[in-house]
Amino acid sequence: MGRLSGKVALVTGAAGGQGAAAVRRFVEEGARVVVADVRDEEGRALADELGAHFVHLDVSEEDGWTAAVAETTAVYEHPNVLVNNAGVLHFARLQDTTLSDYLRVIHINQVGTFLGMRGVVPGMKKAGGGSIINVSSIEGLRAAPLLTAYTASKFAIRGMTKVAALELAGRGVRVNSVHPGMIETGMIPAALGGQEVDMTFVGKKVPLGRVGQPSEIAELTVFLASDESSYCTGAEFVADGGVTAGHSLSNLG
Ligand code: NAD
Repeated sequence: MGRLSGKVALVTGAAGGQGAAAVRRFVEEGARVVVADVRDEEGRALADELGAHFVHLDVSEEDGWTAAVAETTAVYEHPNVLVNNAGVLHFARLQDTTLSDYLRVIHINQVGTFLGMRGVVPGMKKAGGGSIINVSSIEGLRAAPLLTAYTASKFAIRGMTKVAALELAGRGVRVNSVHPGMIETGMIPAALGGQEVDMTFVGKKVPLGRVGQPSEIAELTVFLASDESSYCTGAEFVADGGVTAGHSLSNLG
């Protein structure tokens, strides 16, 4: 029996990167999975390959969430696992961050996470439990220059995770946040307009000496989705190669 047998998981931003890596591991562990994304072609191809189900979902849209939860329930059952993974990055100095860029990041990262939790909670309560995994970042723990909107959204995700965990603990619904460090996905190139990025330079600044891989975050997500994490709620799960263990004067290199 897989570690996730009996689980119905809705994973957002699942067409690529860490979301897709989580979907692959979830299916291997016996979960029935809904791949949700705005990128229809990539999302559908992944779902077809793995025998999962694809739904088009823009996480910033309230009606989209109602439809996605209803479709998941119709195809499988009400989701008992939600991974709020969809996210975007925007690099700009504070004074150069336009209101529209700020709000775009907040709507996807922060409002999307709020709508997702609110959308699945009634069904999880009725079913007697569930696990919600909110993907924050090390920018939900520490600040980084050029990331005003992103950092604001990721701190907000960390905070609302704890509120939800406290409200739902008595109903068997666990809510945790995940804080990846620098992970090799398409997110940074996308934020830089498709530009190739050499991650070796960044990797050298990480205590473990390298950037992380999406599969390394997926393992943490499997643990949080499974009953192995039954005593974990309202907690912050960091996977950053040691980056947040020190401060900026602690680099020996
Ligand atoms: P990615 O760009 O590879 O994947 C993000 C996915 O989200 C994409 O498939 C994209 O289409 C989707 N998406 C974007 N806007 C959406 C919307 N409105 N509705 C639905 N889907 C949408 O990036 P990733 O690195 O896999 O990021 C996954 C999560 O991990 C994000 O929340 C990100 O902030 C977080 N994170 C990433 C890193 C990193 O270094 N890559 C570090 C810390 C946290």
